[in-house]
Amino acid sequence: MRRQKKTILLASPRGFCAGVERAIEIVERALQKFGPPVYVRHEIVHNKFVVNELAKKGAIFVDELDEVPKGATVIFSAHGVSKSIKEQAKIQNMFAIDATCPLVTKVHNEASRHHRKGRHTLLIGHAGHPEVEGTMGQVPEGTMTLIETLSDARNFNPPISDGLAFATQTTLSVDDTSEIISILQHRFPEITGPSGEDICYATTNRQNAVKKLAAKTEYFIIVGADNSSNSKRLVEVALKFGAKNAVLIPDANSLKLNELRNVSVVSISSGASVPDILIDEVLKKLDQEFDISIKIESSIKEDVYFNLPPILRTR
Ligand code: SF4
Repeated sequence: MRRQKKTILLASPRGFCAGVERAIEIVERALQKFGPPVYVRHEIVHNKFVVNELAKKGAIFVDELDEVPKGATVIFSAHGVSKSIKEQAKIQNMFAIDATCPLVTKVHNEASRHHRKGRHTLLIGHAGHPEVEGTMGQVPEGTMTLIETLSDARNFNPPISDGLAFATQTTLSVDDTSEIISILQHRFPEITGPSGEDICYATTNRQNAVKKLAAKTEYFIIVGADNSSNSKRLVEVALKFGAKNAVLIPDANSLKLNELRNVSVVSISSGASVPDILIDEVLKKLDQEFDISIKIESSIKEDVYFNLPPILRTR
């Protein structure tokens, strides 16, 4: 039987960003330098494949520091942690290595600076995401308010009469966030903030690459975890910019081939914590079933690199 023809448009850039590569390298080098086990608080990045590979090498993933023996080596994930977690690690005499992405640390520093200047900060982000918890934990309780929606921005009542600032989670939708910022700037013209927002280069570039393909796509496959903020945003962007269908799948096993039967143009991208091997497996599965031709659609070239913490720069 003749196999159905499909055109596969591969978005670029996609997959690993510099912050994720750095975080993974931190765990690998810590394992080499100090020997297993090395404890990691939370998933180092939001991807089960990455976490399982590191666990095989001797990393132990924990939810809280109470699960880490006193004096052990512990790594904080790329999403960042509150000041109280760092304090707890010190009290429990742990050797802590911080894998927080430098672009998240930049937001932490902004939050601390606003607090020092007496400003109340509005953090645009999603409740429950570890990055939001870490950023809110840079300042005393009550001095930062989480803004999740347009309605939150419209209804926020400042607790102080002047001195307002805003900051954002790094992995939000660029377009939704700019709408929220516009409302805040309209309501509070004196509000202080970054020149645009704090959304990182990797999130912005991956969203732009998806936007470029969305209108010509019948079925958009985004590979990423369902707890990965930047991956979920890619699905929303694909649908908003014209893709007829868009799905988030963790790996090739979750691909529903029956949904692709009458589709001729399939686009593929992946979140910033997804290794290329997971995309290769999706392509392999498509190739086994259909007659595919692959085109790489590149929108921008990335060459960002973040230095490792000094303790891990030498082996
Ligand atoms: S997605 Fe952005 S903020 Fe998050 S680790 Fe990657 S570069 Fe850093």
